[in-house]
Amino acid sequence: MKTPIPGLHHVTAIASDPQKNLDFYTQILGLRFVKKTINFDDPGTYHFYFGDDEGTPGTILTFFPWPRAMRGLAGVGEVTHTAFSVPLTSIDYWEQRLTNLGILVERTGKRFDEAVLTLADPDGMKIEIVGHSDAGAAKAPRFADVPSEHAIRGFFGVTLYEVSADKTAALLNVMGFNKVAEEGNRQRFSAEGHALGNHIDLVIDANASYGRSGAGSVHHIAFRASDEAAQRAWREELAKHVDVTQVLDRTYFTSIYFREPGGVLFELATDPPGFALDEPLESLGEALRIPEWYEPKRDLIEKRLIPITLHKSTPEAKETV
Ligand code: ZN
Repeated sequence: MKTPIPGLHHVTAIASDPQKNLDFYTQILGLRFVKKTINFDDPGTYHFYFGDDEGTPGTILTFFPWPRAMRGLAGVGEVTHTAFSVPLTSIDYWEQRLTNLGILVERTGKRFDEAVLTLADPDGMKIEIVGHSDAGAAKAPRFADVPSEHAIRGFFGVTLYEVSADKTAALLNVMGFNKVAEEGNRQRFSAEGHALGNHIDLVIDANASYGRSGAGSVHHIAFRASDEAAQRAWREELAKHVDVTQVLDRTYFTSIYFREPGGVLFELATDPPGFALDEPLESLGEALRIPEWYEPKRDLIEKRLIPITLHKSTPEAKETV
């Protein structure tokens, strides 16, 4: 059954240095490292997954760290900003924390009804922390020094930079995201309900130029399908509008991919089976997990990967920050 798409499932981006990437998202933003695996199409490269304590769909930011990747240049047909959700009352905490940790942070004026902090990760990827009044409860990461009331909840949404809105808007409408607000050249499309990552903003600039993919670029964004049956039903519907791939097995979910008319790669990923499939919740992200068909080559794969260290903090360590 074609159950509604509640919001984003994950966002996947490109990084360069794996250790810097790992440290930034766990130590600065306080996300949990929920999966250390490899790029299934390029097993010499890591695939990192960050999220809330349980790796809940809607909280998952993933990276392919390529140590020699050139920095990307943001342009049209791309996701330019990835926004995380926090309560409105947590914005001061985050501005102070980031400043204390030496991160350059810009506090924009009000956008719609939200307070927005903008910062860049070590590869220049633009991150927003959006404070708003309907942020849900946190499943706060157990190894982070961010007090749970301020913890990042997951995604608020993403911003797509486009030359024109109409065709992208029409596809978003098919997917159940309807225009709810407009401010200057920004249009907001939201799914019904209050799921994480239910906002897609289009920023329209008819004269903008194309960018260049690289470190700091978002590779694709994935939306949620409740299960494989819903994914199949959506595949049938989407195929009336865009080219859609076959269903691909990504171990922790199954996926279909399609490019929206403005150029951004979209994916529809299933909620099940999830990240506790191959390791216990208590130790998510600590051991290198690789698909079964690569297990005979594990030694070789491990030798090719750059060693990394996961630093674990706890909320009690907060005073030392
Ligand atoms: Zn994906």
